[in-house]
Amino acid sequence: MRYQSTRGNSPQQSFLEILLGGLAPDGGLYLPTEYPQVTKAQLDAWRGMPYADLAYEVLSLYCDDIPEVDLRTLLRKTYTEQVYCNGRKEDNAKDITPLHWLGEEQGTRIGLLSLSNGPTLAFKDMAMQLLGNLFEYALKKNGQELNILGATSGDTGSAAEYAMRGKEGVKVFMLSPRGKMSSFQSAQMYSLQDPNIFNLAVAGVFDDCQDIVKAVSNDHSFKANHQIGTVNSINWGRVVAQVVYYFQGYLLATKSSDEQVSFTVPSGNFGNICAGHIARMMGLPIAHLIAATNENDVLDEFFRTGVYRARKSAETLHTSSPSMDISKASNFERFVFDFMGKDGKATAAMFKQVDQAGGFDISKDTVFKDLAQYGFQSGRSTHENRLETIRNVDAQYGVMIDTHTADGVKVAREHLQAGIPMIVLETALPIKFEETIEIALGRPAECPPAFKDIKSKPQRVENIEADVDQVKNFITAHTN
Ligand SMILES: *Cc1c(COP(=O)(O)O)cnc(C)c1O
Repeated sequence: MRYQSTRGNSPQQSFLEILLGGLAPDGGLYLPTEYPQVTKAQLDAWRGMPYADLAYEVLSLYCDDIPEVDLRTLLRKTYTEQVYCNGRKEDNAKDITPLHWLGEEQGTRIGLLSLSNGPTLAFKDMAMQLLGNLFEYALKKNGQELNILGATSGDTGSAAEYAMRGKEGVKVFMLSPRGKMSSFQSAQMYSLQDPNIFNLAVAGVFDDCQDIVKAVSNDHSFKANHQIGTVNSINWGRVVAQVVYYFQGYLLATKSSDEQVSFTVPSGNFGNICAGHIARMMGLPIAHLIAATNENDVLDEFFRTGVYRARKSAETLHTSSPSMDISKASNFERFVFDFMGKDGKATAAMFKQVDQAGGFDISKDTVFKDLAQYGFQSGRSTHENRLETIRNVDAQYGVMIDTHTADGVKVAREHLQAGIPMIVLETALPIKFEETIEIALGRPAECPPAFKDIKSKPQRVENIEADVDQVKNFITAHTN
């Protein structure tokens, strides 16, 4: 399998060659030159497989430069009940991403695919845990080391730290805005005691953290001398690992591969739903992929109108589903490349326009009319909708959902089709956003036993000024 850049101007590479990097040299994102096709007979054969084996069937189509025994070993080590049992209170843990039907609404079943039982209680663990094992494998193979520098406002940073803790050849330097995360989120990150994980609490806001990461990454000699890398959401390894649970969700929801299902995906950077798009392109019988946004509705606006308008930082709202508070959807370029007929020149021109003019408008182009073939729909949700949905899912079904999943359920209900099961991806557990749950329900969020004493654990965190040189000095002092 070869990978090409969405901007059409970088050499094609293999899976292991693109695994540790970020953007392609021409500024584009990597995609396989073609999507492998899966037949109904294959799907039937995959029904009932352990998750790790299903993951092998899907991922071996994309990582054909990893020998079968190695890939199987990595996947079996990653997708275990022990790793994905942290929030679990139910019985079908062996499914890794169990499907829970809520009930019947408007003539069809609606259910939640549980993606949030990994170590940090959010769906990012599904891919990040694999990435940790893949990174360790690839670095060892090449005798390399990697120092991951990142900025987080919560979920991504903790998922990365829990994935990389104790991994040989990897160190993580994670910048977070001091005092700006929920107490649960900061306790989760700062309580890690692994010597290869460094939490830097910056006196500033998330944007300051991100600016420092950008400044360090733009210092090319520092970056090269200190083997600096990232694990942001455009990493192909993360996207492709997420493709697997669309297959699992489909197989758990259906009895025959002649049936169709739809998925609703709480969306921010378009990484999660991009994986759904890829599963559909591979032939998985998905009727619709529904992007659910919060008030930061860049994606909903695009699917409704054909106008893609990236927001400025000042226009980006801080909402009660904060992991979807994005100004532009960094993985969206992958889908644009596909609907532009894999035309790298055209895609490059469109994203040049995003940089220069803030967006593009295809509302009058035939490609926008033809978009229907990709099955996308969309909707948005507000703080009030979120509270209301948390309340009525609790009242109607006795199930407590988090704020992001609530955005998903709200939008899913607007797109139900009789006879086509609707699967909403559950992207986090309620305890992560306990302040809003308390407001919605008037009682605290359920706390999984493994996290009961998280806030009283000793913390290991370095306070630092919002200053690029201080961060560089810290990295230099803690790397070889
Ligand atoms: C990251 C995240 C999302 C958004 O996922 P994208 O891949 O960025 O679209 C939604 N919900 C939660 C809880 C998240 O952590």
